[in-house]
Amino acid sequence: MTIATTNPATGETLKTFEPHGGQQIEQALAAAAKAFPLWRRTSFAERAAKMQKAAALLEERKDSLARLITLEMGKLRRQAVAEIEKCASGCRYYAENAERHLADEPVATDAKKSLIKHQPLGAVLAVMPWNFPFWQVFRFAAPALMAGNVGLLKHASSVPQCALAIEEIFRNAGFPQGVFQTLLVGADKVQGIVEDPRIAAATLTGSDGAGRSLGRTAGAHLKKTVLELGGSDPFLVLPSADMGAAVKTAVAARIQNAGQSCIAAKRFIVHQQIADEFEKRFVEAFKALRTGDPLDDSTDMGPLASKQVLDDVDSQVRRSGKPACGGKRLDRPGFFYAPTVILDAENTPAWREEVFGPVAAVARARDLDHAIALANDTQFGLGAAAFTNDATEQDRLAAELEAGSVFINGMVKSDPRLPFGGIKQSGYGRELSQAGIREFTNTKSVWIG
Ligand code: NAP
Repeated sequence: MTIATTNPATGETLKTFEPHGGQQIEQALAAAAKAFPLWRRTSFAERAAKMQKAAALLEERKDSLARLITLEMGKLRRQAVAEIEKCASGCRYYAENAERHLADEPVATDAKKSLIKHQPLGAVLAVMPWNFPFWQVFRFAAPALMAGNVGLLKHASSVPQCALAIEEIFRNAGFPQGVFQTLLVGADKVQGIVEDPRIAAATLTGSDGAGRSLGRTAGAHLKKTVLELGGSDPFLVLPSADMGAAVKTAVAARIQNAGQSCIAAKRFIVHQQIADEFEKRFVEAFKALRTGDPLDDSTDMGPLASKQVLDDVDSQVRRSGKPACGGKRLDRPGFFYAPTVILDAENTPAWREEVFGPVAAVARARDLDHAIALANDTQFGLGAAAFTNDATEQDRLAAELEAGSVFINGMVKSDPRLPFGGIKQSGYGRELSQAGIREFTNTKSVWIG
């Protein structure tokens, strides 16, 4: 894949980049190997000061960085600003909490003294997607670097300027050479980098196919991996729900980032008792959405990120029957698709596959058991949301939905204080919170007799 910036709002390719060759990859691996033994010995206070500086730089540069995001992958400008602000808060969270999360833990045993230590692993390769081009990287980098690891970023080939801007932030924040580096390489170079003995571990956020491929290579070399893959999150609406809030949140949860979010609600499961009303209001709300220029703050939804994403979404909708609204590309330059609702969608491709665009698949459930069964009838298990004011139903949903997170009366979102990740084909391992920072550490038992 060419490494290039193509503006999704116009379809124009603005800039192409020469991929890094063997010599540059070798230099980066050597710099990471040289930096790690020194970086791991720095104090938490020293690392935290630099991470706080990175947060400050993100905030200082947020308008220009947000423009870069919009230019490279089409996100609404105001949502891009919010993404940069979230990165700053993620940096601050780990600057303030890493030491506590990784503190030695004394344990009483038959020893005079025994304890658990959490120590860094080394150089971690991060293979990242374009959909949240800053947040995906920072939610890996802030904990990994605070733990004393060093990072190498292989970003999606469509967001090279974001990748370079992130490297610059860490450099300007005072992180020593080799602690965080961007490699401008295609997916074909990932296997060789993972196999290199100087790489200790790898994380990939992306499609299940890419995850499987990286997992195979890492498995062959017994290297630790975290995989954050696709999702087809259910969104359940039950009779006791606040209907206005459920409809509003359902729309926001489906069209966030033009539907290109792993944790976007994709399958809407509505109790038959309230289905007529929900479907009517949901379709009306979709029809009222303003799709257009992502730089215009009155726009509700921008373009899809690439022609490939647009073609994939269009094909999935065509194979899924007649939509209640939308179901077509917009007749204008760029990669725009109309917000689409498909009713009675159970078992259509829009229900079975992950649709990375503004397409809501709706199905009716007879009762709570049926709703839970429909929600869990998927290969994925990333997030799940449900609207109900019945406490017994809330408990059952929290216990029985097969997902890495369950949000009741709210939309699924990541939060540095809570673990984030999936089960089933959505991957394994966790990011964020204490669970996330401990993924790339050696949990060492120490016994002193
Ligand atoms: P993608 O095609 O899998 O690409 C993601 C990254 O993996 C890119 O850097 C890509 O490089 C690289 N890649 C692709 N094929 C690879 C291979 N065989 N071996 C190693 N690396 C490979 O995914 P995408 O289209 O950018 O992103 C959308 C997917 O990401 C969706 O499935 C979405 O649900 C998932 N996602 C998951 C999470 C989560 O936290 N669970 C968050 C966001 C997105 P190139 O760009 O050079 O091809």
